[in-house]
Amino acid sequence: MKLIIGSHVSFNKDLQLLGSVKEALSYGSNTFMFYTGAPQNTNRSEINEELIKQADKLMVENNIDKNNVIVHAPYIINLANDEKSYDFSINFLKQEIDRCSKLGIKNIVLHPGSHVGLGEEKGLNNIVFALKEILKEDKGVKILLETMAGKGSELGKTTTQLKYIIDNVNSSNLGVCLDTCHLHDSGVDLNNFDLYLKDFDEKIGINKIGCIHVNDSMNPISSHKDRHANIGFGNIGFDTLINIIYNPLFENIPKILETPYVTKDDSSKERMYSPYKYEIQMIRDKKFDSNMINEIRNINL
Ligand code: FE
Ligand code: FE
Ligand code: ZN
Repeated sequence: MKLIIGSHVSFNKDLQLLGSVKEALSYGSNTFMFYTGAPQNTNRSEINEELIKQADKLMVENNIDKNNVIVHAPYIINLANDEKSYDFSINFLKQEIDRCSKLGIKNIVLHPGSHVGLGEEKGLNNIVFALKEILKEDKGVKILLETMAGKGSELGKTTTQLKYIIDNVNSSNLGVCLDTCHLHDSGVDLNNFDLYLKDFDEKIGINKIGCIHVNDSMNPISSHKDRHANIGFGNIGFDTLINIIYNPLFENIPKILETPYVTKDDSSKERMYSPYKYEIQMIRDKKFDSNMINEIRNINL
C-alpha cells in the first residue's frame, strides 16, 4: 500500500512554498501542511510566482503530488459566532482561499468554529450561512472541516454536527479532515475505529474525508482538552494509530502529523526539535521506538 504522509511545516516570507517543500523533504515526507502566515494574525505576504515555480519543480522531482498538499486556515477565523468579527472571518477565509488558488493548493482545513455562548443551533446555522457565502464561487479549493475535541464551545465535535453543516451547505467543495487526537478527546474509541467509520459513512460518507491529522493525545478519552502527543507517546497508542494510517480505505488520503516539538529536557517547556523525521520513519517501519525522544535530544546536543 502506498503511504501519503507528511507533517505541519513552516511557510516563511522569504522562501514561501519552496521553503515548505524543502522542509517536508528533510523529514522524508511526500506531502505537507502549512499556514500561509502566522495562525494567530492576519499579516500575509504577497505570493511570489517565481517561488511557486521552483517549489512545483522540486515537488515533481521528488514525487510530491501537489493535490495532496494542505493549507490550514488560521484559528482566529470563527464562523460560528455572528456577534464578534463574523464579517472579518468570512472575508479572511475568502482571501485565504484566493491565496490557496494562487499557490495551486486544493485543500484548506478549517476549524468549524466556537459558538461562544450563542448555543449549538445558532452556532451551526452561522457556520452554514458563512460557508454558503464563501463557497458561492467555485475557486477549485475544497474546505475540509476538522473534527474537533469539544474544548470550550467548539462545534464539529460530533459526526452529527458535521453532517448538519455539510447537508445544509450542500457543496461539492466541502469535506472533512479527521484529527485522531480530537476524535479521541471528543469521546471516540479509536480501538473501535470501524464502528466510528460505519456511523460516519452512514451520516456523511467516507468519500467526504479529504485529510487525516495523525496525532496521539496527552489526555484520556473524552477529556475535551486537545493536547497533542508524539506518535505512540500518548493515550491513543502506536498500534491504534498505525491501524488508522494503514486502513486501505484511506490509501489515497494525505496523513499529516501535528505532534509537538521535543523539549531540550524533561524540565524544559520550550519546544525546540522537530520530531517529524523520526515519527515518519517509525510509521514507515510500523515499529515504535520508545527511546525516540531521547534520541532526538542526543542528536541535537
Ligand atoms: Fe486544526
Ligand atoms: Fe488537527
Ligand atoms: Zn488539535
